Amino acid sequence: MALRQVLIDGDETLRKKSREITNFDDRLQTLIDDMFETMYASNGIGLAAPQVGVLRRLFVMDLHDGNEPIVAINPQIMDAKGTQTYQECCLSIPGRYGDVERPAELVLRAYDRNGEPFEIKASELTAVCISHENDHLDGILFKDKVKGELLSQ
Ligand SMILES: [Zn+2]
Repeated sequence: MALRQVLIDGDETLRKKSREITNFDDRLQTLIDDMFETMYASNGIGLAAPQVGVLRRLFVMDLHDGNEPIVAINPQIMDAKGTQTYQECCLSIPGRYGDVERPAELVLRAYDRNGEPFEIKASELTAVCISHENDHLDGILFKDKVKGELLSQ
């Protein structure tokens, strides 16, 4: 495993749309392992592939809430319902945070690292994080959606 460099806001790659993953090969497994290592090293709870310069539809998450870490490949968000506002931050926008409105509930449909499909019904912080990471795959950053001001730490 190896740490990858996290791209910072201003880098054009963060604004590009990521492509679907079709090969569940060794290279993908290495990328996933590296993304977890990079996320943990940065004390993050989620990291999307474009944040490490790879324009592929993949994100990893670990909320440290007793649930297993999530690997979501070619994710789709279904059945988004309601709204919740949460103060978000992002490893690609260091030191900044702000309130973002997200679905209160959603269903994540994706493939795991072995290419097996799965579905997770999510609410609260899990839904926030899934929505935030999924946005990265379409070149959207949380600051685009901040209600009011983008604050500094
Ligand atoms: Zn982010």
